[in-house]
Amino acid sequence: MFEGRLSKRLKDHIGNLLGTGLEDLFGQAERRQQVLLAATIGMAVGLPFSVFNMSTDGSFIVGMTELAAVCFLVFPAALLAQRSVGLAFAEGLVLLAGLVIFGTLIAFRGIQGTAQFWGFMFPFLAFFLKGQRRGWLYSCGFALIVATYFAIGPAALPFAYQYTRTYGAHYVVTLICFTVIAAGFNLLRSRFEEKLQARVAERTATAKVYLNQLQYQATHDPLTGLPNRVKLTETIASEIEKASATGQGLVICNLHLERLFELGNVLGIAGADALVLQIAEHLGRIAEGEGYLSRTRRDEFVILYRIDRPTVSPDELQRFIAEREFSIQVQGYAIHIEFTLGLSISPAHSNDPELLLKKAEQAMLQARKNEQRWSIYDEKQEEVFVRHHLLFGKMQEGLRLRQFQVHFQPQVDLATGVVIGAEALTRWADPIEGMISPVVFIPVAEESGLIQPLTNWLVRVCMSESARWKELGLDLDISINLSAISLVDPNLIDFLRNTAAEAGLAPEKINLEITESCFIKSPERSLEVMRRLREAGFRLSIDDFGTGFSSLSYLKNMPINELKIDQSFVRKLLESPGDQSIVISTIDLAHNFGLSVVAEGIEDEPTATWLREHHCDIGQGYTFARPIPAAEMVLFAQSRQAGRAAVESN
Ligand code: C2E
Ligand code: CA
Ligand code: CA
Repeated sequence: MFEGRLSKRLKDHIGNLLGTGLEDLFGQAERRQQVLLAATIGMAVGLPFSVFNMSTDGSFIVGMTELAAVCFLVFPAALLAQRSVGLAFAEGLVLLAGLVIFGTLIAFRGIQGTAQFWGFMFPFLAFFLKGQRRGWLYSCGFALIVATYFAIGPAALPFAYQYTRTYGAHYVVTLICFTVIAAGFNLLRSRFEEKLQARVAERTATAKVYLNQLQYQATHDPLTGLPNRVKLTETIASEIEKASATGQGLVICNLHLERLFELGNVLGIAGADALVLQIAEHLGRIAEGEGYLSRTRRDEFVILYRIDRPTVSPDELQRFIAEREFSIQVQGYAIHIEFTLGLSISPAHSNDPELLLKKAEQAMLQARKNEQRWSIYDEKQEEVFVRHHLLFGKMQEGLRLRQFQVHFQPQVDLATGVVIGAEALTRWADPIEGMISPVVFIPVAEESGLIQPLTNWLVRVCMSESARWKELGLDLDISINLSAISLVDPNLIDFLRNTAAEAGLAPEKINLEITESCFIKSPERSLEVMRRLREAGFRLSIDDFGTGFSSLSYLKNMPINELKIDQSFVRKLLESPGDQSIVISTIDLAHNFGLSVVAEGIEDEPTATWLREHHCDIGQGYTFARPIPAAEMVLFAQSRQAGRAAVESN
């Protein structure tokens, strides 16, 4: 048995040596390299030798042959290999060069000393170029030619080199031994090469796995496995290309998950993750077969839809925004999920993937800001949006550089025409943009948190101005606008009380204007603050009355002193019977509750007269005065309060 195994191994080794069981390891590229290497060495060795031989006595023919072989065989072989055509032919040329040079040497010069070794090089070259199997063929062929020459050449050719009788036999035997050595050497080389290739293939496969993993991580959301923003951008780009070729369009639907932060607080990290996973699954079902779902942020998903036309029809739109509210069970709670949607459309809004995504996001932010459930990107809104965000930064600078001013708009007792107070209206004089309207900067201040320093500054200015009026003997109330955010500021009441006290003012002279929207957001808290403000002695006025919706129900509970009818009812009062009925009933309502009524936006005398006749108490508007700087306000009041003194003395 042992013998059997041994003979099998021996057979294997012999088979390998002969190359019968071996596949051709080398592909085109390697063979090309091999020919190039052999040809380069051939030229580098052959050329100096040819020069040396040509200048040595008796070796001129060998030198010439070498030169010719290098020029006409080796060099063309190198050229062919470089262009990777006729590789087998190129290999043949190199081998032929070996044969020709050695042939000349053996026939004309005689091989003695180191020259013997050139013949032994041939099998190495043959195995190297032709591989294990065919290497034998070429080497044995060579040995046969050499043996034949020794047998008949020197005797037949008169000019041939004459060897001793046994030299040829010795030489051929040695050549065969070298052929076996060359075969063994080449086998080792092939084995080494084989192992190397296997190792490289293994490493490449591992690297590929890592690369795929990395690529996946870079393009997918780790939690849900959905494509992330990077992948989505790529997909949008390729979809845009396809859609534009077929005249179709795309809809980018940005879904912002509301209250995820709060939910995360309640459910914990694991709970929030489970929730997001379920939401992703649900959205996956909505998008299935129709759209491409991705998760672009913690609380944001995007669905990409392809549509038949370049724009969206109302029906389609409805389909994209449907099913955006649903409930999900997590940890035993049924959680109500709500999204705000922003949509952008290609090609209508852009053909750039990044821009489309940005526009869908802007539309979503716009929807959130307007407390809507969805919105489509709108260029005009974007301008407002961009300006709004630019103002964010500018406003802080404006406050620091004292670019804000307060103007005062007189309020007139309609019955007597006497100025009885003024509304403080803030102005922002920007050195580049000029006057920026409070309609623009108040919302920015509210969002950026700057409303508090702005209101504090305004209150201080108003108090000191009011104190000055008092000093000058002017009997004027001052109205200050409070935004919803200021109203719920916990420091507000103390701040107002302290600044009024410091200025030596009675709180009754200070009228705080609040809009209906203030207490729609947090009614309980606002009512509480208003009650405390009233207790502290301040007067309260409902601004823009009539533009809200809950007018009657809250009026009876609210600790207020005054209603300000919104200008939209006043400005075209005389032309609109509808506005007239609203104004009349508002005046009645206010008087029934014991409140005084202010009409603002009175732009002409006939309107003032109509309001006077309908018992409106106070008027404010361009017909009396526009909002004016403090100094002008003093002059205006001085000229119009002389009348008050006269009225009171009568
Ligand atoms: P509002 O409280 O309703 O102020 C009245 C606005 O109407 C003022 O605009 C005023 O200039 C304008 N107005 C007055 N009379 C007439 C008139 O006869 N015709 C017309 N067409 N308009 C008239 P302004 O100053 O641009 O203020 C806009 C809004 O900005 C104010 O509306 C107020 O809500 C807000 N605001 C202004 N200053 C402040 C402030 O210091 N703090 C807060 N929170 N809001 C302010
Ligand atoms: Ca006001
Ligand atoms: Ca108003």
